[in-house]
Amino acid sequence: MSVSMILHLPHASTFIPEDLRQDFLFSDQELLEEVNRITDHATDAIFQQAFPEAKAIVFPVSRLVVDPERFSEDSQEPMSQVGMGVTYTRGSLRQPLREQPSPAKRQALMERYYIPHHQKLTEAVEESLLTNDHCLIIDGHSFPALPLPYELNQTAFRPDFCLGTDDFHTPEELVAKVEKILESCGYSTVRNQPFSGTIVPMKHYRKDERVQSLMIEINRWLYLGEDYSVDSERVEALIELLRRVGEVLEKN
Ligand SMILES: [Zn+2]
Repeated sequence: MSVSMILHLPHASTFIPEDLRQDFLFSDQELLEEVNRITDHATDAIFQQAFPEAKAIVFPVSRLVVDPERFSEDSQEPMSQVGMGVTYTRGSLRQPLREQPSPAKRQALMERYYIPHHQKLTEAVEESLLTNDHCLIIDGHSFPALPLPYELNQTAFRPDFCLGTDDFHTPEELVAKVEKILESCGYSTVRNQPFSGTIVPMKHYRKDERVQSLMIEINRWLYLGEDYSVDSERVEALIELLRRVGEVLEKN
């Protein structure tokens, strides 16, 4: 596999740091249920095993603490309309999650988690550009089989794989190749529905065509039980499938 591949895995962690637990307006049981609903379970293991030579940038805490996939400014971030900008105040059922953090608290969370994460991603991209003059970011996620109340798009068809693209950073032939391999293996794919876009560091966003990016969202019904247990056999099958995607991308 090309060493110029970077995995961005923002939503796999279930970890809530102890000193931040009190911020959440939930009982332990409610918090556990919310973490279960909102986490892209096992996507760190799945994508890293499928693309073992890629450099992985894995967010170390739950997206309930800070969501690294959001724009840092709420004015740029559509999800802030539903209380789910970079620091959520509402949960996936649109229930109150925590008080709006003060500007100082918000800044502290950004400096502790968001900024270092994005720095790592930007540095990995820079390094890849220096050595390979090219870089492909795979933004790895999973999504629930049925829409959660917070989702902006409630009616879209839920395919096996949702592929998020960017007009500037996702070449047509790249996404077409991925669609072809997934569909030839019997899986359904849709572009940018129910989730759209793919991550690119702000430094390169819409400026540097050498930085390519594709979001791969796995429908959780492919590997997760209703009790959020991970089905290891189905995970193996998924890893095998994504390895084939990696082989195709390698020839990109
Ligand atoms: Zn996600």
